[in-house]
Amino acid sequence: MLYQRSSQLFAEAEKVIPGGVNSPVRAFKSVGGTPIFVKQAKGAYLYDEDGNRLIDYINSWGPMILGHAFEPVVQAVTEKAKLGTSFGMPTELETQIAALAVSMVPNIDKIRFVNSGTEACMSAVRLARGFTKRDKIIKFSGCYHGHSDSFLIQAGSGAMTFGTPNSPGVTAGTAKDTLLAKYNDLENVRSLIEANPNEIAAIIVEPVAGNMGCVPPIKGFLEGVRQLCSENGILLIFDEVMTGFRLAKGGAQELLNINADIVCFGKVIGGGLPVGAFAAREEIMNYLAPLGPVYQAGTLSGNPLAMAAGKAMLESLNNDAAIFQRLEEKTAYLEAGIHKVLKANNIVYTINRVGSMISVHFDASPVVDFQTAAKGDNDTFKKFFHGLLQEGVYIAPSAYETWFITDALTYEDLDFTINAIDKVSKTL
Ligand SMILES: *Cc1c(COP(=O)(O)O)cnc(C)c1O
Repeated sequence: MLYQRSSQLFAEAEKVIPGGVNSPVRAFKSVGGTPIFVKQAKGAYLYDEDGNRLIDYINSWGPMILGHAFEPVVQAVTEKAKLGTSFGMPTELETQIAALAVSMVPNIDKIRFVNSGTEACMSAVRLARGFTKRDKIIKFSGCYHGHSDSFLIQAGSGAMTFGTPNSPGVTAGTAKDTLLAKYNDLENVRSLIEANPNEIAAIIVEPVAGNMGCVPPIKGFLEGVRQLCSENGILLIFDEVMTGFRLAKGGAQELLNINADIVCFGKVIGGGLPVGAFAAREEIMNYLAPLGPVYQAGTLSGNPLAMAAGKAMLESLNNDAAIFQRLEEKTAYLEAGIHKVLKANNIVYTINRVGSMISVHFDASPVVDFQTAAKGDNDTFKKFFHGLLQEGVYIAPSAYETWFITDALTYEDLDFTINAIDKVSKTL
């Protein structure tokens, strides 16, 4: 396949947009080459500016769980647009989607809508700090919670030290309030809490990690974190921006049967429009302005087009009793097929999967945290990625990303993909 026009468009973009993209991972830096420019998409397929058709395993990084240009969403948005696109005043639609979300997700009474997953996580942490009157948070290496300052932190030297900024522009003052722990390492969490008594407001975690590839929580890890939080007056924040409305109707809380204190949403909840949200029990949510002292706001929050898209998406998921089972079966089929062809071609690999989140790591050892995820062979991944691109299969342009399976994929698409992986494996 040729990607000539995409390359030209990228060169044009680079003149007026830093790196040619509005979000860095799109730039293909970790795989090399130039990004594909999309013209349109429908169902499981992307159509690019060169006229290629690609089977899409990113699906806008998650939101298109029911496929691109999903009819109910398109209809809801176009109808709403004719009635005005933003008011900065309340609409009935906001109450309807809030009530629907609260009915689908366990353990939440109220929800506040924002414009991105970043905003949701940032606001959740502020709320937790205000509510507990403590400053520090614990996050896990390899978990991503958007690009707000408190989260752009890497481990300092030694497990007990404060984090250090991993981007210029994040101050040392901010970094000192974020402590880094190892995913799936409960003892590490326990020692951080013991070293900072009565200082930790919240522990924020991806209940199934998806930003270092897919990394499931090992048995007892989240249960232990939950217990430590309860014993120490710490709020547990589940960042379900990726897992929410994907792993189950009620997200990871439902799938894993663990209650968080605050839950963050993004991606699927907006049906492809810019939406995030955070939610909790009433006592915590009432601590937000205008009821409570913790300030949080947004000119376009609850935007009618975004809410119409999100509501159509949540309704479609809520009304389809078999959707999550179907996604599980399709992804399990894909997983089994990938196992078969990678084994047959003597590739060294590990596959992690939870529901419709799956990733292939090119290393033999189990991938349980950032350190083990980083052991994957990136040169092999690069060849794998570009090989699949030539076959018309688009996976995320980074070894640290999950593939997002959409219900729009047919078993023929999955067979096509498995065959493409077989073919590419022979070249690795
Ligand atoms: C994507 C993502 C975010 C950030 O959401 P944006 O909408 O990109 O700001 C936060 N947390 C997790 C787990 C994510 O996957």
